Amino acid sequence: MARIYLDKNAYINNLECIAKKVGDKERVILVLKDNAYGHGATMLAGVAKDIGFKFCAVKNEYEADQLEPFFDKILILSHIPEGNESQRYIYATNCLKALRDIKDGTRVHLAVDTLMHRNGIQMSELDEAFEIIKAKNLVLEGAFTHHRGADELSAEYFVQDQNFKSIKSKILKIASELGFNKLDFHSRASAAFERAFDFDDELVRVGIAQLGYAQFDATLGLKPVLSLWAKKVSSRVLKAGQGVGYGGKFVADSDMNIATYDLGYGDGLLRYNGVGRLCLASNEPLLGRMSMDSFSSKDTGEWVCVFDDARVWAKFFNTIEYEILVKLSPFIKREWR
Ligand SMILES: *Cc1c(COP(=O)(O)O)cnc(C)c1O
Repeated sequence: MARIYLDKNAYINNLECIAKKVGDKERVILVLKDNAYGHGATMLAGVAKDIGFKFCAVKNEYEADQLEPFFDKILILSHIPEGNESQRYIYATNCLKALRDIKDGTRVHLAVDTLMHRNGIQMSELDEAFEIIKAKNLVLEGAFTHHRGADELSAEYFVQDQNFKSIKSKILKIASELGFNKLDFHSRASAAFERAFDFDDELVRVGIAQLGYAQFDATLGLKPVLSLWAKKVSSRVLKAGQGVGYGGKFVADSDMNIATYDLGYGDGLLRYNGVGRLCLASNEPLLGRMSMDSFSSKDTGEWVCVFDDARVWAKFFNTIEYEILVKLSPFIKREWR
């Protein structure tokens, strides 16, 4: 049966590198949404907890419930509480309506829109937001923003950084009048974290960096954590002139030993239609179309590594490594090694 191997040393290395750059493990919010980008959220959470990380972020309560035993604080990015939630949960409030809808007394981090226009209150809505916070006795524990273009080297990152700085000082002023003192501010996801030299006493919110994917700062020494392995289902000689798989898209020039391996688009791989050269980690190409539960390639043994760097598949499919990783089915067995 196919396997995802998770490299424990690589993961610990990445976590330590991130903490070192920010200065403190307590300043790191580990983003473990979407099953930790397909890696297996509870597996990573166990290791992160053991080495002292205490704060994570997820998408919704379903994910939070799985990680509740591992972290002191869990920031839930896009979900309004429905009742019976854990004391450990903190809710991102993504607009004024969310502040109005949320239950009285809830712990919140206020999202502020500093340019992305996806989530967050407008900077001009701050006074109104605080009126709601006060009226509902919400427990304001932090505020944050998200960059729309930190992954592209342009001035936008600095514009948002500046916008956030100015809103931060306003928030601090109003918050202290209301008696909210220790606030956690955070604005930097992985790309912005890599680009930053000074964290302005903020926390960082890193997802992909902890998994070993860096794009700006090679000196960080991040290493990919996940490798995907497929097991042989069957093998045969594909005779000269025969085609393999649906539509017979790959035709052998001469007799060759091929094998079929047990991963396909039903396991979350993007479907390869047999056109262009898509390679396994060994550089052997897939042969013909991918099926729902299998693909074929030259027979190179019982196990093949499909990829140990998701960027190879991302490049082929003209997408980002996030998408290649996050789609990996939760039903593939994950193991540390
Ligand atoms: C997903 C997400 C992150 C993490 O982004 P990476 O690029 O993986 O570090 C951080 N903040 C928010 C609001 C997110 O949705």
